[in-house]
Formats: sequence, C-alpha cells, structure tokens
Amino acid sequence: MKSRPNLLFILCCFLGSLLPLAQAVARPPNIIIILADDLGYGDLGCYGHPSIRTPNLDRMAAEGMRFTDFYVAATVCTPSRAALLTGRLPIRTGMAGSESRRVLYGVSTGGLPTNEVTIATALKSKNYATACIGKWHLGHLPQFLPTSHGFDSYFGLLWSNDMEPNGKNAKRASQDLDADQSWWKPSLYRNDKVIEQPTDLSLLTKRYTAEATQFIRDHKKKPFFLYLPHTYPHMPLFASKNFKGTSARGLYGDVVQELDWSVGQILETLRKENLAENTLVFFTSDNGPWLIKELAGGSAGPLREGKGSTWEGGMREPAIAWWPKKIKAGGVTSALASSLDLINTCAALAGATLPKDRTMDGVNLAPILFGNGKSERDLMFYYRGNELFAVRKGDFKAHFQTAPGYPGNRAQDKFEKHETPLLFNLVQDPGERFNIASAHADVLADIQREVAKHRANLVPGTPQY
Ligand code: MG
Repeated sequence: MKSRPNLLFILCCFLGSLLPLAQAVARPPNIIIILADDLGYGDLGCYGHPSIRTPNLDRMAAEGMRFTDFYVAATVCTPSRAALLTGRLPIRTGMAGSESRRVLYGVSTGGLPTNEVTIATALKSKNYATACIGKWHLGHLPQFLPTSHGFDSYFGLLWSNDMEPNGKNAKRASQDLDADQSWWKPSLYRNDKVIEQPTDLSLLTKRYTAEATQFIRDHKKKPFFLYLPHTYPHMPLFASKNFKGTSARGLYGDVVQELDWSVGQILETLRKENLAENTLVFFTSDNGPWLIKELAGGSAGPLREGKGSTWEGGMREPAIAWWPKKIKAGGVTSALASSLDLINTCAALAGATLPKDRTMDGVNLAPILFGNGKSERDLMFYYRGNELFAVRKGDFKAHFQTAPGYPGNRAQDKFEKHETPLLFNLVQDPGERFNIASAHADVLADIQREVAKHRANLVPGTPQY
C-alpha cells in the first residue's frame, strides 16, 4: 500500500541531494561603479598629480588594475552617463544633444528613453538588488527617473549642483572658490520625492557615502549592483568640515580628497563584510576636467584640452578596476577600453543577457580584467553632441573637426573642419601635438573606411533635449 510519508521521504531525499549542487553554483559577483563628475585624467596621485593626495584610490590601483586608455563616449555629463548605463553611443539613444544644448536642463522634457536597457535593468533580470546614489542627470520626469530604469532605490541630486539657481544670485561666477550655498537651491531626492530643498551641498559626498555603505551592509546576502555617481568635483565646489582646507591644491583638492576618502570607506566596508573577494568595483569619471573654471576645475595631465572637447583631455579618463584575487594586483593596462563596455562586462559576470534588437557599442572587458585574452576593442568614436569629430583606431587618432571644449571669443576658439583630417599617434604623442597625416595616408584611409562603415549602420535616436 502506498503511503504519503514514503512519498514525502523520497521527495525530501531528492531535494536534499540537490542542495549541495545549488550551493556549488557560484553566486554572481556584486558590482559597484563609482563615477566622479568632471575629474581629470591627471587629478589622482596614481595618475601623477603632484599635490592632490589620493591614498585610497592609489591603494585601489595598487590592489587592482589601472587603465591608461579608458574612454567615455561623450565630452559632457548627460550623454556620457547615458552611454555608461546603456552601452550605446548617445546618438543612438537620442541623448547626444547639440551645440546649443549639450546636456539636459530643467526645461527639457526628454530623458533616457524608457525602452533603453540599463545595467540595472539587465542585472534585475538576475535578481540583483540595485541602487543609484548620487547625480542622475538623465531626465527629471517620472518615466526617466532611476527607479524607472531598473534601480530599486535612488538618493541624490537629479541635476548638476549648478543647475538649480536661486534667482539672480546664480549669475555670480560659479568658478568662485568662495561660492555661497545660497546661490543655489538644490533638491535632494529619495526615490521619486524631493526630501530637502535646498540641501547642504557641503554634505553630499558624506551622505552619499553613508547611504552607499548602508546599502552594501543591507544587501550582503544577495548579489547587488550599486551605481554611485558623485556630484563632485563638478563645480560649485563644497567640501565638508573635515576636508575643507586640507589640500595644498586648494578647494578643488579638498573635494577630490573627500571623494578619495569615500572610495576608501566603500572598499573598507566590503572588506569588513567579507564581500571584497566577490565584488568588482570600478572607478572612473564622466568627462574631462572643466578647464575654463580655472582653479575650480581639474587637470588632464599630459592630455590636450578638457571637458566639452574631443581632444583626449575631454574623453580619456582615470579608470581603476578592483576585485581582490580575481584581478591581478598592480596591473596597468594600455588596452583600449570604454565606459560603453561596462554593461557587457556586468551582464557577462552576472549571466544576464543583453537586448539583441539594437546596436550595442560595448565589448566584454573580462579578458583585460582577468588577463586571459586580448581586448576586443580597437575603435573609439569621439562625438561632440550629435557630430562625429574624431576616431581612434589602434594607436592612431584622426580628427575631422576640432574645437575647444568651451569656445570663447578668442580668435583661436573656433570650430575647424579639416579637409585632410589631423592625425596623431596617441602612444607616441598622447598630448596630440604633432600632426602626422601627410606621412600616413594609408592609416587615414583605413580610418575613413571605418567611419563609412559606422555611418552606414547608424540610426540616430529621437533627440531628447
Ligand atoms: Mg561631468
């Protein structure tokens, strides 16, 4: 006679035999992306800055991998962030902007389109806990908020810190090193609600850090994705009491040193919670230093120009990857890599799939990070707004157009189209000083063929600004 207890016993034995199998399937790694705003290639100790002290980022580089040739996909905030989160050139998503409006403003009714897949959306499909803490700048209407783009929670400013002016006070030069908080009325959001206005700009780095470390502690039992796009060192600059006046570089240095402290807090929390060996942390910046802000802006080190420009200083960024025991300590890579590649890398690590119905512009960085293969990236496209200005292939970069990041009234501040593109060997001449086009017609012709191929398949998205 069949009895229920026997069946139950068999079922229990069967499930019991599966348990070790389930435990053997490795939990996918946690992923943290820390993004500075307007930090230059030359602003960190480990990238050669002589007076800004960044011991935590230097240690992160010493324990992980430092990139020498890491690029973002745009020269300013909004399009660069759209590209990082979607792995698609901003021109494809409608997030490229134009010369008259280069980022989203309060009057913009657009944002990151709802049908775009972000890193957070992709990782949600693998049951990751997801949080965005910091500056969003991808749309302020409900359908464009972080919580509509795959993030379980959001805490931060939707805009840059200079974008909510307080009446006529905002006309004051924002590069002032003694800016007054009353010139702005920044709104601090939690999820889709404003919780403070004006919020204290000098406390943002501290508060983002507290939120981030709390999120890590709260979610240590399941895989998580933390996107931490800091408000600084975008001007106006404010540091908390503990950091104000601590850097020989002045207020800009104070602000960068507070960001460095923040990175140290994140890594220390991972160590304390025993999560370090199962977490990839990636640090970079959204665009180059804002040079016209003088001492309130950063440094591109040996690179030419800065924010707003398609010269190297505008789009080549400091970048550090950290994952103890997985990424070899102290590595420096000159492989070509981009923020466009982060979504492919994250999806591969999590076992998530990416959409197949659209052009993706990234590659998986795993071969570079884990030292088991070559970079799959050979090309980088440099867009300014919706126009292609330059292309890098291998060691060479051709400029079809050039312009300063922020053209002023000087004679040299003009846009120039180059009938014969300018050509530089970025390995031999990272400062782009010596045009070698006349000696390398074959290289130029090859790059022109890549441009034709790129243009043939390009479908621009609906402009969102
Ligand atoms: Mg920026």
